[in-house]
Amino acid sequence: MSSLSISGVHHLNCGTFLTPLVGPLVSHVLLCETSDGLVLVDSGLGLRDIESPRRRLGAPAMMLGPALRAEETAVNQVEGLGYSRSDVRHIVVTHLDYDHIGGATDFPDAVVHTTCTELQTARAQRTLSERFRYRQSHLTALTNVQTYDEMTEQVLGFELAYPIDGVENMWLVPLPGHSEGHSGVALQVDGRGWLFHAGDAFFHHTTVHQSAPWSLRRGAVRAVETILADDIAAVRENHSRLRQLAHKTDRVSVFCSHDATMFEEMRSAAASMRRRC
Ligand SMILES: [Zn+2]
Repeated sequence: MSSLSISGVHHLNCGTFLTPLVGPLVSHVLLCETSDGLVLVDSGLGLRDIESPRRRLGAPAMMLGPALRAEETAVNQVEGLGYSRSDVRHIVVTHLDYDHIGGATDFPDAVVHTTCTELQTARAQRTLSERFRYRQSHLTALTNVQTYDEMTEQVLGFELAYPIDGVENMWLVPLPGHSEGHSGVALQVDGRGWLFHAGDAFFHHTTVHQSAPWSLRRGAVRAVETILADDIAAVRENHSRLRQLAHKTDRVSVFCSHDATMFEEMRSAAASMRRRC
């Protein structure tokens, strides 16, 4: 299979959550344009999740206040940009929680890329929290999956990174902690440098950028992050590594899935880049 280099990136919010105390959270999805089709990084919630949220996402997810807007789904935004759903060839996911994999069911022709560990953990569902976060309806729809546990490279100072089959300059970078097989996604974009989508490795921009005074909202976000973590010590270690990455060089933009401030910054930067071209 030939590899596709990334010529442009759109930043999409594919699922707003109006979580009590925490405020609005987004589901930050990348839509990458290549010379031969599209690549999604994460997929947010899907159309069927919006139609039957309690059955598809489960009761615990409803406590996080999903806004359930069909217009936010990746498939509707892809089609709104003038593409068809079959143009999406690959979906590279940071992990398989419902708010990251739900939208993949709207792209049955795409190959889903994840780590071996994440797929095995999601399928095994050994604990109650794993039964809440990984939804059977999402997992059974994954018929075209590429998993990774070897062929590693070194990327951005990370010793272990999996180059994505069929996509040039994109890697899964294991960052276990939020879930057992959780990864960041590093990508190099023509004319825009490096992007590092950290998924749920952190939840609030002050984790990697300059500290802000303590606020109720920031404390609530940290509490949610702790409750959702598989291994909170590993999460803290990831925070430190990502802080270093964000400060080491201005060539890399580091951002996470759910922070609305970071999402707006990245979306504006991409829009102004497109206007200049
Ligand atoms: Zn998430």
